[in-house]
Amino acid sequence: MYTISIDDELRLMTVEARYEHPIKYIAARSNSARRFLDDAQNCDTGERLKSRYRSLRLPPEGLECLSYTVNLRSAARTTRLSDILDRSNIVVSPTLWLWRPPLARNEEIFVQFQLPKGLSVFVPWQATNDERTHYRLTASPESGSAIAAFGSFERVVEHVADSDLTIVLLATRDSLELAPLAEWVRGTAENIALTYGRFPNPNTNVVLIPTRNIGWGSDAAVPYGQVVRDGGETIELMINPRRPVADFYKEWTPTHEFSHLLLPYLDRKQRWISEGFAQYYQNVLLARAGQYTAESAWQRIYAGLERGRDSAPGMSPNDAAGARERNTRMKVYWSGASLALMADVKLRQRSGGSESLDRVLDRFQRCCLPSARSWSGVELFEKFDTLLDEPLFMNLYRQYADAVDFPDARPVLEQLGIEVRDGQFHLNDNAELAFIREAITR
Ligand SMILES: [Zn+2]
Repeated sequence: MYTISIDDELRLMTVEARYEHPIKYIAARSNSARRFLDDAQNCDTGERLKSRYRSLRLPPEGLECLSYTVNLRSAARTTRLSDILDRSNIVVSPTLWLWRPPLARNEEIFVQFQLPKGLSVFVPWQATNDERTHYRLTASPESGSAIAAFGSFERVVEHVADSDLTIVLLATRDSLELAPLAEWVRGTAENIALTYGRFPNPNTNVVLIPTRNIGWGSDAAVPYGQVVRDGGETIELMINPRRPVADFYKEWTPTHEFSHLLLPYLDRKQRWISEGFAQYYQNVLLARAGQYTAESAWQRIYAGLERGRDSAPGMSPNDAAGARERNTRMKVYWSGASLALMADVKLRQRSGGSESLDRVLDRFQRCCLPSARSWSGVELFEKFDTLLDEPLFMNLYRQYADAVDFPDARPVLEQLGIEVRDGQFHLNDNAELAFIREAITR
């Protein structure tokens, strides 16, 4: 059990951790954490503890009580968001202040915050009380750069599609109202439920970060989003305070980010699968929700697949996702979408419409999500195949994952009646599988 208190000026964090048995290894995730660490001690004996790189030097018999303080303000200055936030709240990644033993699957750490009156905490973990001061931290892929926030910001919990979404709006110099933004987030979560009737994770955090010109060079209403899987699943969305909320509904970024939760975290080399499934579903779901016409959704998928086919020639999807070069982006984003489309059509075709990618993802969620670990593409597709009467996904993986060509969905597009004639995009209702195309976006 960790007890963490913070002073009312958000300067100092004081931590006391009691363990059920002696702990032999305690570390912070960031190499910088030791710069902000002070007074680390064995609180049973008063013995001072020194840090060595990311870990603490512990007595050989282990430690049952740890106390330390963290210079929170200084740590916050290293965070990319510090200059846009209002002084009433700060963002400090847990990687800079949480010193803890590693967590095996099924292990958990309980953390309770003691905060000055009127101040709140946001951490990307699962709250265990209504006041949101007590949390349970479980094993997770520990992906990305999780944020934690302390101070006076707004928060609301929305129950939507069998899920509790905790929505946090960080306070910046732009004053924004949470209620209309929460309504918009709710709509996005409802889009995801158009896959199989519920949201893939019963407890998800959404952090809204108002932002202006911080380098993405975009005037979009939602210039950037990312999924963080760190002790729970959190979606961070940057929002542009100069745009009216109505504009947020026209953006695909939130549906894309939320779609990522349909799959577990995948190894970097198989990022093309997670990005591709998100690209496919963002378009399909926005059509089902009525935000795109079916024609517009298919046109976007068609154009994306064309861009993907032109990208990174000579590289396989696995190579492209593992590479650092920028010109692989379209291959990474669309090769998995091509595979998702081919799988979806095949499943519907061979079952006479009783199977679909939606149904596979539904069964997958029931067995395996949210997942505490990182998956490989092979593990994921092998699991998908166990959820089917007749295998499909590993065949597609073997055919395309390491082949230098782009997974070519053109024959499938033609069967679906998705055509470009004389430069004009056109849906042909007389095509052999036009009824499947209609079923996908219905
Ligand atoms: Zn993505």
